[in-house]
Amino acid sequence: MFNMLIMGPPGAGKGTQAQAIAKRLSLKHLASGDVVRAEVGGKTVAGQKAKAYMEAGKLVPDDLVTSMVGSHIKTACESGNGVVLDGYPRTVAQARSLTELLERDGLKMHAVVNLKVPGEALVDRLVNRLTCPKCNWVYHKRNNPPKVEGKCDKDGAALASRPDDNETVIRERLRVYHDQTEPVLAYYRERSVLQEFDGSGAIDEVFECVVRYLENLKGA
Ligand code: ADP
Ligand code: ADP
Repeated sequence: MFNMLIMGPPGAGKGTQAQAIAKRLSLKHLASGDVVRAEVGGKTVAGQKAKAYMEAGKLVPDDLVTSMVGSHIKTACESGNGVVLDGYPRTVAQARSLTELLERDGLKMHAVVNLKVPGEALVDRLVNRLTCPKCNWVYHKRNNPPKVEGKCDKDGAALASRPDDNETVIRERLRVYHDQTEPVLAYYRERSVLQEFDGSGAIDEVFECVVRYLENLKGA
């Protein structure tokens, strides 16, 4: 069993790296953004409450997001080899909830990987991001294009830009990250599980550095 978090600002490459890490280490990838988007799209009661926050680039309130993703986290941790959690926790209160949720079942986070990328690069990555609405696989118009323009390599579905990937909302998400999510790094640094990486290189270069670290840690 190996559970890990991938952290970093919006556009740092969390989803991209988490998908590749999950495949290499046979872990389950769980992205809180995908869970929230599914609830919003399904027009559930929780989804209807979360919609306006998401559209404005604000965080969904802690209790609401924890109630949405908590059961998915538990299931993902219990089944199989472990989980790569992406996008949760995003506040110190969520980090505390996660610790409690795991400890209740005798589980823990073995690694927290933080991807560091400068702000200007993040905006370019996000305005050019394309996502598969069916399987959530992530592409970039130039840096990581699909094999056939506009179509997902995995399932052929038409790729789309996320509505919150426009420059105004992106700037708000970066501000929110700085105010509310950056303090989560100190929470994990104090617990000696945080490892920071330069996320500004090419996708494969970042992956090789992160996976080398994780494989050493797992083998240790
Ligand atoms: P996050 O989950 O952190 O918001 P994503 O993994 O969705 O980030 O990546 C954001 C965008 O940047 C996507 O279009 C992705 O293809 C692209 N991307 C991810 N990593 C890199 C990288 N190392 N170099 C260039 N572009 C990248
Ligand atoms: P990105 O990594 O590109 O910033 P995500 O897909 O992780 O975006 O999240 C998109 C949106 O979903 C966030 O801006 C926020 O509104 C909501 N969200 C996702 N995860 C959380 C969370 N842990 N806490 C609060 N809101 C969240």
